[in-house]
Amino acid sequence: MMQVPFLDLKAAYDELAPQTEPEMLESLRSGWYILGPQVAQFEQQFAAYCEADHAIGVANGLDALRLALVALDIGAGDKVLVPSNTYIATWLAVSQCGAIPVPVEPDPATHNITAEGIQQAMQTGVKAVIAVHLYGQPADMTAICATAEALGIRVIEDAAQAHGARWKGKRIGAMGDVACWSFYPGKNLGALGDGGALTTNCPDLADQLRLLRNYGSREKYKNDVPGFNSRLDPVQACFLSVKLQVLDDWNTRRAQIAERYLQDLQDTDLILPHIAQDAQSAWHLFVVRHKERSRFAADLESAGIQTLVHYPIPPHAQAAYASLGLADADLPIASELAQQVISLPIGPHLSQEQVSHVIEAARRYS
Ligand SMILES: *Cc1c(COP(=O)(O)O)cnc(C)c1O
Repeated sequence: MMQVPFLDLKAAYDELAPQTEPEMLESLRSGWYILGPQVAQFEQQFAAYCEADHAIGVANGLDALRLALVALDIGAGDKVLVPSNTYIATWLAVSQCGAIPVPVEPDPATHNITAEGIQQAMQTGVKAVIAVHLYGQPADMTAICATAEALGIRVIEDAAQAHGARWKGKRIGAMGDVACWSFYPGKNLGALGDGGALTTNCPDLADQLRLLRNYGSREKYKNDVPGFNSRLDPVQACFLSVKLQVLDDWNTRRAQIAERYLQDLQDTDLILPHIAQDAQSAWHLFVVRHKERSRFAADLESAGIQTLVHYPIPPHAQAAYASLGLADADLPIASELAQQVISLPIGPHLSQEQVSHVIEAARRYS
């Protein structure tokens, strides 16, 4: 029987190996292992790709979010608006700098945070909002930035799932104050281990972030601020520079699979993703909803198709956030989505036959 793995990172590695392996070997043999020219080169390329003025490479996506908050002077006692249905890293970054996450319910159609949701959740003490471009689809940055400006709060983009996405034709990466990226292997622009970055058009913020990622130091053994150790590795930067060149092509492959799913799964019991008029998704995930999710997942598994759930337990219901005292009834949209969402395989290395197999099985079992 045909097998459809959720994600095939080995195939991705193999396709790029002829270009990446010589570059990575050169980096390993260079004798230079922290920051340096490869990281600087990737930062330039990634900033240009994101249509942003500056990119700063860091150790992972969670650190990118944490450094963004610290650089914007958000700390103990402050509040930060976050989506109620995001990956927990968005919330953890807020907690880790001593601030309090305040959940905002998403639009159930796009699963994204909205300007109206922000307005409703706004309270005294809120200094910023983290807008997550969930599953690869950009949130409505036009409305969110306008609302944030009116409310006097900063905008951080959590772009960990949306490398290459566009809002109104423009790449995401510099629409808010700062955007945060993850290069975790499974992301659209994934590395061979952990990695992350921030992009921004603000030169002062970029400068501050460069300080913060490197012990608060511009000059060795001179520390201007109490910084972190969070730097992108040169070997990862080498790999990412090559991968960045194929990212648009690989995102197109994802979009073509999404197109087929959207077309061929219309008349089923599945609720399909809704992409906003002005959004061009990076299609990190293809998330559908089904009322009998576990039965549907088991049936697909019996057909050799691997699915995942993003995410089965929303942050407010995690033991890690029990102290906030939030009940499912307080966040009904996030709670219902968590019960029903299921992600079908989508990736640049899925064959047409595998996609057909998923469609056939999903039609049969939905
Ligand atoms: C992956 C992810 C992160 C965290 O990235 P890491 O590199 O794993 O730390 C943050 N936010 C979202 C929405 C993510 O999907």
